[in-house]
Amino acid sequence: MNSLRLHLNENTAGCSPAVAETLRALGRSTAAFYPDYDEARDAAAGYLGVPPDHVQLTNGLDEGILTVTAAAFRDRTGGIPDVVSVVPAFDVFEGCATALGGRMVSVPLGDDLTTRPDDLRAALTPNTRLVFVTNPHNPSGTTIPLDAFRSLARDVAPALLFLDETYTEFAGVTLVEPAVFSEIPNLVVGRSFSKALGLAGLRTGALVANPATLEPMRQIVPVFSLNAWAAAALPVALADRAYRDWYIAQAAESRTLLVETCARLGLHTWPSAANFQLVRVGSRVSAIVAALAERGILVRDRSREHGCEGCIRITAGALADTRRLVEALEEVLCAVR
Ligand SMILES: *Cc1c(COP(=O)(O)O)cnc(C)c1O
Repeated sequence: MNSLRLHLNENTAGCSPAVAETLRALGRSTAAFYPDYDEARDAAAGYLGVPPDHVQLTNGLDEGILTVTAAAFRDRTGGIPDVVSVVPAFDVFEGCATALGGRMVSVPLGDDLTTRPDDLRAALTPNTRLVFVTNPHNPSGTTIPLDAFRSLARDVAPALLFLDETYTEFAGVTLVEPAVFSEIPNLVVGRSFSKALGLAGLRTGALVANPATLEPMRQIVPVFSLNAWAAAALPVALADRAYRDWYIAQAAESRTLLVETCARLGLHTWPSAANFQLVRVGSRVSAIVAALAERGILVRDRSREHGCEGCIRITAGALADTRRLVEALEEVLCAVR
């Protein structure tokens, strides 16, 4: 039996059917020829509402994060570069920063698991080259007003502010608009097409910034970073707004169901604007994760991270999947208590 994957914030309903059809129609020469993804880049720029010269497509946003880190580290005048990030955070931030020889400066979130820009400002050092923030935040799902990121970006200059907007479609807010990037040249927004558009297996992401800021990053991204299947799929996925909007609505209903269920079961949750919900299940967290796995449902144990003691993260995807999780969670909680 295939497990229900609610542990990596993927799209539990799959990609748009139009994407599947496009992929099926690709022929032998698509596999044989190097990919051309200018059309995919233009489609992404149209979707994001910026000119194509503001966009660099990457092999998933993971590659975008690696690229931004490498670009930020090109200036070695101060010795070992510092990277400032909130914790908990997406673990690729720290992975890239340390793999490329940087030093990680970790700033805990507030008790309500929101990003506190003043704490990030206070953590800046003369060697800070890059600051990582995420909105909505992963793993908490919390958001803060966009203006806070705008002013934070100004204050961290000349360091880069990397704003990870992987979950922005679910929240319905984005900092991406052309004027922002001319006003704030050290701002780089990361976007992923893995989650809302359901393309995680194809690996498509984007860096969005002022063209001059992107230039050193373009030199770092490998020339054929997107494969031909991803390049063919992306414009189709971006064009199918009806499918995307249906899924966003499903995720919102799933979140509501999870919050209501947790309230009834006496479990703490945080207000999430993303396609997942952080839930404090308490000290029996590993038993609960294991019992759910036995029932064929995978959720993510985040209990070892700062501020997330006793917590699991559950993907809020298609409503039918969430209903199945809720039923299993109720059974499991009775059993382990
Ligand atoms: C999933 C995720 C990504 C990576 O997305 P890909 O485009 O699949 O590489 C980046 N940032 C955050 C916060 C994520 O949760």
